[in-house]
Amino acid sequence: MLITGLHLLQTYQCNFECDHCFVWSKPDAKGVMKISDIRQILDEAKQLGSIKAICFEGGEPFLYYQTMLWGLQAAKDYGFRRSIVTNSYWATSVEDAIEWLTPISKIGVHDFAVSDDAYHYGENEENYAKYAYTAAKTLGLPVSKISIEDPRRCIEKSPWKGQPVTGGSVQFKGRAVEKLVEGLRTSPWTEFDKCLDEDFSNQGRVHIDPFGHVHVCQGITIGNMKVIPLAELFATFDPKKHPICAPLLKGGPAELAREYQVAHKEDYVDECHLCYDIRSKLRKRFPDILVPDQLYGV
Ligand code: SF4
Repeated sequence: MLITGLHLLQTYQCNFECDHCFVWSKPDAKGVMKISDIRQILDEAKQLGSIKAICFEGGEPFLYYQTMLWGLQAAKDYGFRRSIVTNSYWATSVEDAIEWLTPISKIGVHDFAVSDDAYHYGENEENYAKYAYTAAKTLGLPVSKISIEDPRRCIEKSPWKGQPVTGGSVQFKGRAVEKLVEGLRTSPWTEFDKCLDEDFSNQGRVHIDPFGHVHVCQGITIGNMKVIPLAELFATFDPKKHPICAPLLKGGPAELAREYQVAHKEDYVDECHLCYDIRSKLRKRFPDILVPDQLYGV
C-alpha cells in the first residue's frame, strides 16, 4: 500500500462529548501524544518517502496547543503538508481567536477545518466555530467547515412517510451506535456486503493514536508503531490476509459476520453499524487488532 497521509489522533480527550463521535472522545479520555511521540512519527514518515501530509486531529488537538504547534512546525520543517481539525472551543471571540490562530498562520497550514454543527453549538448557544471561521479568514488561513446533521432531524427529507433517515454524514460506529440509531430506518444485515468508505486494497492514509496503534479504519489496526516501525507495518500489511480486512474486502460487514459466525441482529442502519457490532463481539478473539478500548466505548 502507498500511504501518503498520516492523521494524528493527538489526544482522545475533548471538552465535548458528542453523540456522533466515532472515537468516543470525552473530557476524561485517556491518551495524549507527547512531543517525543510526534517526533518519532515524523521521523519515520520522512524515512518512508511516500508521506505528503500530516493532519492534527483528535479528540480536540487545541487542548494540547503547544504540542500541536511544535508538531506543525516540525511537519513544516520536514516538508509535509499540514492540516488541523478543531471544534473551536477556544474561539471565545473573533479577537481572541485571532490571538490563538496567529502562531498557526505564521507556520502555515493547508487546511484548517472547524466543526460547526448542532452537536457542538446548539441553536441558542454562542457559536465559537463562527468566530474561529472569521478569524481564520481574517488571517488568510484556508478554512473549511465540517457540519454533521442529526439523522433524526432529516425527517422532512425522508421518502419513507416521515420516518427518520440514515444520513447527515453521521458514521454509525462508536458513540453514534449507542446514541443515534434508535428510530432510524434499518435494512437486513445481508444487504451490507460492501464497505463503502474504506478501500483496504488501496489504502492511502492511516490514523495513528497516542498509544501507537495504526488504524486503517478507526478501531481496526494493522499493528503498533511503538513496537514495529511504520515502514515494516506498511510493507507487511496484506489486506487479503488481515483477519478483519480480508472478509470486509470479500463481502463487507456481512461477510465478517459470516466468516466468524457471530450472533447478531437481523437489521442494521448501515454498513458501519453492522461492522461495528460484529467487531465489538470479536474483540476477545483479536485483542491486538480491534483496539484500543477507547474506540469500543470501554
Ligand atoms: S464498514 Fe467497517 S471498515 Fe468500512 S468504514 Fe464502516 S466501520 Fe470502517
